[in-house]
Amino acid sequence: MINELSRPAPVAYLRRTRTPIALAQGDGIGPEITQAVLHILDAAQAQVSFTPVKIGLESYNAGASNGIAPEAWEAIRSTGILLKGPVTTPQGGGFKSVNVTLRKALGLYANVRPVQSFAPYISTLHPEMNVVVIRENEEDVYAGIEHRQSEDVYQCLKLITRPGCERIVRYAFEYAKQNGRKKVTCMTKDNIMKMTDGLFHRVFDEIGADYPQIQKEHMIIDIGMAKVATQPERFDVIVTPNLYGDILSDVVAEISGSVGLAPSANIGNEMSVFEAIHGSAPDIAGKGIANPSGMLLASTMMLQHIGQSETASLIHNAWLRTIEDGQQTGDLTQTNPLSTMEFARAVCDRLGEMPRRLPAAIYPADAKPIKVETKPVSGIPPRRNLEGVDIFISSRMQPMDLAKRLQTIVPQGSELKMISNRGVVVWPSGLPETHLVDHYRCRFTSKSASQLWVVNLLIALNRIQLDVIKTENLYAFDGKMAYSAGQGQ
Ligand code: NAD
Repeated sequence: MINELSRPAPVAYLRRTRTPIALAQGDGIGPEITQAVLHILDAAQAQVSFTPVKIGLESYNAGASNGIAPEAWEAIRSTGILLKGPVTTPQGGGFKSVNVTLRKALGLYANVRPVQSFAPYISTLHPEMNVVVIRENEEDVYAGIEHRQSEDVYQCLKLITRPGCERIVRYAFEYAKQNGRKKVTCMTKDNIMKMTDGLFHRVFDEIGADYPQIQKEHMIIDIGMAKVATQPERFDVIVTPNLYGDILSDVVAEISGSVGLAPSANIGNEMSVFEAIHGSAPDIAGKGIANPSGMLLASTMMLQHIGQSETASLIHNAWLRTIEDGQQTGDLTQTNPLSTMEFARAVCDRLGEMPRRLPAAIYPADAKPIKVETKPVSGIPPRRNLEGVDIFISSRMQPMDLAKRLQTIVPQGSELKMISNRGVVVWPSGLPETHLVDHYRCRFTSKSASQLWVVNLLIALNRIQLDVIKTENLYAFDGKMAYSAGQGQ
């Protein structure tokens, strides 16, 4: 497959400098769609030279728990750009996702997923949709910090940071500005997660104020996603935390006609990775019928990123014309569907042609990659004051009995404020209907709380034989409570 690019190139082709790119063909349908994409890039004389790298199943099997061979890291970091096919993440413990590892290790904070309808040529209920999902790419539950805490309870930590929010939100507004987009919609669940998603929303409002020419709105993710599924044409750019953006972009791609259509660019200030949004599609792998469009359009985003906008437009317009001519793969049409390579050849045959009815693709020559620098923290750091501690205890005691036992060790000047179970207060008040698991949060407070006070509490709990799982300190920042109350407190 990679040999496609090693055959003798035309003279004009050799005169210009080629940009080195690391290339991973991926698993499942990955090799098939990669071959198709390389065929088109070659025919369009894209000025790129590929270094093949091994990531995915082969590397997992060779012992790399994150699916990336050490040589692959070297090649990706030296070129700064990776074009990749989808990768299968093996099920089961011990394996880390290649995609999440790449995004986090290389600082690829922005995931840009443009999705558009191609009606009437690709059947969709939403002919007017043209949406770009900009998904935060490094934080949220994708930190992958998980623990089993007791017999009943498993935990996944959701991490949202101010620098992370600032980077992605500013990226979204800069993207909108550069691409003539009119509106940015932020979607979070800050009616429930007031601190984490609340921060994302607050940063959206703060940074949005720097872009008066762009319309702004915030929606709660559940109704937001429902509106996207039914009226996608009312959206323009959507910015979200990681998990919501992951789900939302698949929904958007699927309602445009096929998940096989949408590209994805993972952008950092130094590195970038371009890929389709879909996975390795094991159900159709090896059949030669996969749609290579997602990866092809990712490669045109890559060409623009490296300053080859002309070639990006050339390929994209040939692709649009191919779609208009009814030359489509089986996920889009049941009438004489093309194989993956037949589709690639159909695109090559149309290089230099423009779409007849669909709007032509324009990749502006002067569009520079967007880089958002996070400002170093300045000013007086907020005053942090310890007000108490949540001590998590594994126990199957009834709340009243647990409270009685805990009260035997509450130090003078301290208070056992409440006990909750899965977030719901079960002591001092509570309802008999609340389902209890073996995982209690016991909140202690004191006007003179200190680290030593926490340690002494833990020693006392150990003395009365309670099974402590973990602690969370309760802070106030500049006098403002910085922890959630129990539900029903
Ligand atoms: P999937 O996206 O691979 O497939 C979902 C459905 O869409 C399948 O029916 C498939 O046949 C179809 N489909 C996907 N791409 C297509 C294409 N180009 N042409 C035609 N039909 C296409 O999702 P999945 O089955 O949930 O995941 C399979 C594997 O891919 C998993 O191991 C998952 O972890 C991995 N994955 C990888 C990436 C990535 O590398 N970026 C992204 C998502 C999932």
